[in-house]
Amino acid sequence: MSVQEHPLGISFEFFPPNTDAGRDKLVGVRDALAKCGPRFFSVTYGAGGSTQARTSRTVKMIGESGINTAPHLSCIGSDKGELRELLAQYREEGVNSLVALRGDLPSGMGGIGELRYANELVEFIRAETGDHFEIAVAAYPECHPQAPSYEHDLQNFARKMQAGANLAITQYFFSAEAYFHFVDRARALGVEAPIVPGIMPITNYTKLARFSDACGADIPRWVRKQLEAYGDDSESIQAFGEEVISRLCQRLLDGGAPGLHFYTLNQATASLRVLDNLA
Ligand code: FAD
Repeated sequence: MSVQEHPLGISFEFFPPNTDAGRDKLVGVRDALAKCGPRFFSVTYGAGGSTQARTSRTVKMIGESGINTAPHLSCIGSDKGELRELLAQYREEGVNSLVALRGDLPSGMGGIGELRYANELVEFIRAETGDHFEIAVAAYPECHPQAPSYEHDLQNFARKMQAGANLAITQYFFSAEAYFHFVDRARALGVEAPIVPGIMPITNYTKLARFSDACGADIPRWVRKQLEAYGDDSESIQAFGEEVISRLCQRLLDGGAPGLHFYTLNQATASLRVLDNLA
C-alpha cells in the first residue's frame, strides 16, 4: 500500500516566513509538495498571536495551491475575543480545518489568557463554530516535557480528543515503539480518532538537537553519535538522515499508522526523498 492509499495520506507543515525572499521560496516548496497530492498543508502560529498576521497571509498563499490548508491556532496569551475574531475570519476565507494548540509563550510575553489548555480551546471552537472545522490536536508519544507523568499526559490527551477533536498529529519522534505504545494506550482510553505520526526529516544536526531538547523528542544515542561524527559533512548527514527517517516511516505505515505529517521547515527536498523511498 502506498502512503497515499493510507486513510489520511500525507500532509505537510510550514512556518510563516519572515521575509519576502522566504515567501517567494515557499511558493516553490508548496508547488513541489502539492504534486504529491497531500490531504492538507498546515501553517504554524506564534503563541500569543505573535505571528497572527504572517500566519493568515501564509495560509492564503498556501491555499492558492487549491490544497486544503489548516492554520494552527494557539490559545495561551490570547483572549476569547481575539480567538473569536480569528475563527470568524478563517470561516469567511473558506478555511475548514484547524490545528488547535495551547502553544508556548515566548519568554517575557504577557499573561496566560482566558483558555489555559488545548482541551479548553477545542471546547471553545466547538461552542463557537459547531462542526464547521475539522480540528487536529497535538499528541506526544514520548510525553509532553511539562507533564508531571506519562499517565497524566495521556489522560490530558484523551480529554482533548473527547472535547471534539477529529484527529491528532504527534510531536516528532524516532522510536516507532513509542508511537505504537502511545496509540495502544490512547485506544484503551477510548480514543478512536486517527493519530498521525509527525515526521521530522533530518538535514541539520545542530538544529535538530536544539529543537529536540526544547520539545522533549529523544534522539537515540546511535543516531546522535553518527550525526556528531559527520561534523559539517552535510551530504553524509542528509544521506544518513534520509535512511533513518525512511525506515521509520515504512515501519509506521506497515504497523498501521493512518498517514504521515511532515515538519518540512519550509524545505521540500528531504520530505520528497523520504516519500520516494517508501514502498
Ligand atoms: P496541551 O494539550 O494543553 O498540553 C500542555 C501541557 O498541559 C501538557 O503537559 C499536558 O499534559 C497538560 N495539560 C493538558 N490539558 C490539561 C488540563 N486540562 N489540566 C492540567 N494539565 C493539562 N506551538 C506553537 O506555539 N505554534 C504552533 O503552531 C505549534 N504547532 C504544533 C503542532 C504540532 C503537531 C505539535 C505536536 C506541537 C505544536 N506546537 C506549536 C507546540 C505546542 O504548542 C507545545 O508543545 C505546547 O507546549 C503544548 O501545546 P498542546 O496543544 O499540546 O497543549
